[in-house]
Amino acid sequence: MKIHEHHARDIFKKYGLPVPEAEVANNPEEVKNIARGMTPPVVVKAQVLVGGRGKAGGVKIAENHDDAMDKSKDIFGLLIKGLRVEKVLVAEAVDIENEYYLGILLDRDKKKHCVIASTAGGVDIEQVAEETPELIGKTWVDPAYGLHPFEIRNMLFDAGFDPKLALKVTGILMKLYKVVIENDCSLAEINPLVQAKDGTLWAIDAKVNFDDSSLYRHPELKPLKESEETDPIEKEAHARGIAYVRLEDGNVGVIGNGAGLVMATMDEVKRFGKGIAKPANFLDIGGGAQADLVRSALELVTMDQNVKVILINVFGGITRCDEVAKGILQAIEEVDLKVPIIIRLAGTNEKEGRELLIYSGLEKYLDIKNAPYKVIESLEQAAPIILETIGVPAQ
Ligand code: GDP
Ligand code: MN
Repeated sequence: MKIHEHHARDIFKKYGLPVPEAEVANNPEEVKNIARGMTPPVVVKAQVLVGGRGKAGGVKIAENHDDAMDKSKDIFGLLIKGLRVEKVLVAEAVDIENEYYLGILLDRDKKKHCVIASTAGGVDIEQVAEETPELIGKTWVDPAYGLHPFEIRNMLFDAGFDPKLALKVTGILMKLYKVVIENDCSLAEINPLVQAKDGTLWAIDAKVNFDDSSLYRHPELKPLKESEETDPIEKEAHARGIAYVRLEDGNVGVIGNGAGLVMATMDEVKRFGKGIAKPANFLDIGGGAQADLVRSALELVTMDQNVKVILINVFGGITRCDEVAKGILQAIEEVDLKVPIIIRLAGTNEKEGRELLIYSGLEKYLDIKNAPYKVIESLEQAAPIILETIGVPAQ
């Protein structure tokens, strides 16, 4: 689970990490009022759940409260990696001398937390890792012994931090580790930690991800989860009680019954997709789905504008294939789906289901591009049809 910068900052503050004064604003007028009460210059920052806001024009420094209001007008409504900016953070700007990177994340291979620091902060840390790995220090934490200051100091010295600075940064990393452990974070990151011209250190960006499996231990995070659902389609899916996860860069909507079958279907799309066809989502209609739910599922999947074709893979047990077929027909009638559906139905009432679809008169065997759907007998038949559909540029 991801949270916005301003919430991450609140947590940092609670743990004594140095975050500058800041407040959230919902419109340019609020930006002005908040900035008026601050010592200028101020920085106005888009609150969206992705990184790289600076590069996308979502972080701007303003000279005074009027300037802050003007600049915020360009930030509100900006689309950053597909997410619209609805809130901004107004913070007292720091006069930056140097930028550093600090992060703690869970290394699943080593089953340990990894503490990372770099003198090349503020920029894309993945790029630093690739181009100048010598500028990155790492140390892994033995969960039985915890993290000790000397381990951090050694790591910082190796990464080229000046000794005096390393002492201060050690204190910050110890606090950040406490944040991670006490809140079950899969990631906590300060990028950048900055040294101001007067020598003080400030965490001017804050990022925290939580391990979803541990949320039951943190009731205080529940309201955050509800208000911060990342993706508008995922939010809609949860409101409808449908298990849906959106993937980045996919173009094939995947619907099935049972998590295992849906995941296997996604793997299959990825395998035959040759890097062109990729699963766009996970959607499990569950057991015993009625037509309404199937209709709703199809509607959800096509809310993702990247979806060019949908693959339905149902193995009927408690789920009846004829109910699934009815749902598909309902969706085609009531929702403008815009993309073709490839359908494989097997198991309970498969014959009835297929007949409903085949005799509807909607399926045009020879022309998938203009037909609303195509019924297939086995999943293998899906590959050529999907590739053909994706290969043709959208009209
Ligand atoms: P991100 O691009 O989403 O990671 O957003 P950040 O909060 O990290 O801000 C991006 C960049 O904006 C930082 O690396 C700084 O260079 C700049 N920036 C952010 N806050 C301040 C500030 O208070 N003072 C100054 N001078 N620059 C800032
Ligand atoms: Mn940042």
